[in-house]
Amino acid sequence: MKRTLTCMLLAFFALLSACAAQENGYETEFFAMDTVMQVHLYGAEEPEAAAREIIRQVSELEKTLSVTDAESEVARLNTGEKRGLSSELRALLDETLALCERTGGCLDPTIYPIVKLWGFTTGEYHVPDRAELDRALPLCGIEHIHYEDGLFRLDRGSALDFGAVGKGYCAELCRDQLAQAGITGILTLGGNVQTVGEKPDGSDWRIGITDPTAPEKTIAALSLRGSHAVVTSGGYQRYFDADGERYCHIIDPATGQSAHAGFSSVTIVSDSALLADALSTALYVMGPERAEDFWRRSNDFEAVLITEDGELLVTQGLSDCISAGIEFRVIER
Ligand code: AMP
Ligand code: MG
Repeated sequence: MKRTLTCMLLAFFALLSACAAQENGYETEFFAMDTVMQVHLYGAEEPEAAAREIIRQVSELEKTLSVTDAESEVARLNTGEKRGLSSELRALLDETLALCERTGGCLDPTIYPIVKLWGFTTGEYHVPDRAELDRALPLCGIEHIHYEDGLFRLDRGSALDFGAVGKGYCAELCRDQLAQAGITGILTLGGNVQTVGEKPDGSDWRIGITDPTAPEKTIAALSLRGSHAVVTSGGYQRYFDADGERYCHIIDPATGQSAHAGFSSVTIVSDSALLADALSTALYVMGPERAEDFWRRSNDFEAVLITEDGELLVTQGLSDCISAGIEFRVIER
């Protein structure tokens, strides 16, 4: 049953794929994890087969992490079922819990009851009232996660959401897959960009940063060499408007409110795509002052921050890699 479903999914993605073998690489596009994904590969002997492997990897992880597919591993855990974890989910959960602690709970994998209340998974948007938040907030928090006799269990009503880290984790697995096969390239999984190795012509990878006020345009570009993750979280990526207010899909776990701490986008550059994905969400929740302070206390990422006032801030390590149409301020150590 599972295999048939996987085959059907692969056929579906293959159908959606618009493939183009190009002189300077091979490009394909597909839809997964609720977003459009692009794969651009260089140096593969059989690029179609390599891209198929990437698509398989993404769809397998989606089958594990989806909160809306009742058959997924996460959806089953979210019913309160006591069960063992697959090695992939165990690894992701452990790293996410460590990042939850490191960010003071700004990244919280147990945020799902609140995300659901706002309607961000179904698209049936709704601004929750105080009473609804007061009922849902106590269900969130990592104290609701239990390991008993090697099995995992959530308290009743609590639920996991890997929306903030899933694509990053996926990018990391795909990067390893390509690197092992000696293939270089660039993957775009929604707002998650992953470069793998050096470009064959020796030039830099160029990665555009979206203008949050005009998402069809870029406001800046990064020039990077080698393998890096470049991940953006932005209020413009998913939101709804109600009563003259804009509510985005990133939630402040401390209040259950849609995050509104002073950023319109946060881009993280790191060797680890999972870290970059986690921190783009968490720093968006923190807001400018806390985010700058967090960066100064860290040594495993750089950032491009765009405030709600339109200010462009760049951490020191990226100051030579960025070109922008507007002035920017460099955040120094
Ligand atoms: P991202 O686009 O990576 O910033 O992740 C946003 C997604 O992660 C949302 O659509 C939610 O599913 C989930 N999410 C929202 N707020 C948080 C949070 N504070 N911590 C963890 N996950 C969150
Ligand atoms: Mg994220």
